[in-house]
Amino acid sequence: MNENGAGFGGLQMIDDASGAEIPSTAPVSSAAAAGPVGTATPIAPIAPATPIAPATPIAPATPIAPIAPIAPIAFEQAADGVVALTDRGGSHARVLIVGSGPAGLTAAIYAARADLEPLVIAGFVPGGQLMITSEVENYPGFPEGIEGPQLMANMRAQAERFGARLVDTDVEAVDFSARPFAVTAGGTRHTADSVIIATGASAIWLDLPNETRLRGRGISACATCDGFFFRDKRVAVVGGGDSALEEALFLTKFASEVVLIHRRDELRGSRIMQNRTLNHPKIRVAWNSQVVDVLGEEKIAGLRLRDTQTGAEREMPIEGLFVAIGHKPNTDVFKEWLARDEKGYLVVHDHTSSGIEGVFVAGDVHDHRYRQAITAAGDGCKAAIDAERWLEAQGEEDGAAGTDAELVTGVAGIGEASARSGIPG
Ligand code: NAP
Repeated sequence: MNENGAGFGGLQMIDDASGAEIPSTAPVSSAAAAGPVGTATPIAPIAPATPIAPATPIAPATPIAPIAPIAPIAFEQAADGVVALTDRGGSHARVLIVGSGPAGLTAAIYAARADLEPLVIAGFVPGGQLMITSEVENYPGFPEGIEGPQLMANMRAQAERFGARLVDTDVEAVDFSARPFAVTAGGTRHTADSVIIATGASAIWLDLPNETRLRGRGISACATCDGFFFRDKRVAVVGGGDSALEEALFLTKFASEVVLIHRRDELRGSRIMQNRTLNHPKIRVAWNSQVVDVLGEEKIAGLRLRDTQTGAEREMPIEGLFVAIGHKPNTDVFKEWLARDEKGYLVVHDHTSSGIEGVFVAGDVHDHRYRQAITAAGDGCKAAIDAERWLEAQGEEDGAAGTDAELVTGVAGIGEASARSGIPG
């Protein structure tokens, strides 16, 4: 709200059928209501920087020791660009990382720099959620912001520079009953002395039958990927969190109008994103509105909305729908082995331990509180350090371990003290 309690300037309700604007009385979020917005103190001009003294020449870096080839793994570049394993026998890794978002790749950088030669099962669609994010403005070190895919490409190159091996395929099964652990990916069974799980979370859909039928025919969960196709069209974004606000703002580059459909009368997203969204001339908000059906035969033509306060239903013509209502952790493949909470997120003990000694957890796959690229990266760093210390404590640094199957302690007692990792501090 502004100081008059009259809502953000420019915010309008819309007549769904016609798209015409009607005045809105809906309050914005409680965060926004907490104080006036848009009246920030002007930032003082930055004094010209003192010229940087010429840098002392950097001593030539010690060459990175060549990584011993690991037989019998082999890769081939398929026509579609996917790297595939040609040897079905797999390989043994001291640290095997599942996932290639900020958590997985940061773990890979740290593990590789600790000479642990990590194998990263990166996923069939590698890179995690940042691959479908446009501008990332809150990752430290990029004062002008950076595109999500570019940030992930940088992290991947950094991990590979230190010897991490990445395989772009999905994990189908794991066996944590004995050490070395087994991870089957792309039909290949790998073994590992330790595992770091960093599989992140995936977009949630509305779960409407016609939404599933028309997905890819005007329905998407990725404005960065598909926004281009909606030039000069009226599109809708469902959700009230930062993802929805980010999608809506991105779509204004193309669409003639973006309707943000939210089931409540206040947004969940951060205040800065709310301000940008609610003040954008191309964005209108349909408050207290739930999508109950998607209309259209060959492609989407409209939505049926229900007013969450009155129960009244109405139709809204639109040509594109972007669903941004949150994410689901990618934990199905681990459910027989690791404890999960009621939403499916992995339960973590003692910082990064899964409850099975030698199996560590990092990033959004367990963190539904912060869910930021930077917190995921920090988690990946912690998991790699914990894995390294745990391997040292196991006396595995001499390479002796990983050959004899050893019963894993604590599998049956996930979540109990006896099952917790004994990571030295
Ligand atoms: P989120 O914060 O959980 O928001 C999900 C939104 O979808 C909520 O507004 C929710 O409504 C709505 N919703 C959930 N289920 C729905 C359903 N079935 N039908 C209609 N609406 C539904 O998820 P998110 O936006 O993906 O953000 C996740 C985390 O990532 C947050 O911590 C966020 O700050 C962060 N993030 C940050 C950035 C950034 O900083 N650039 C960008 C994206 C995400 P209610 O509000 O009524 O619950």
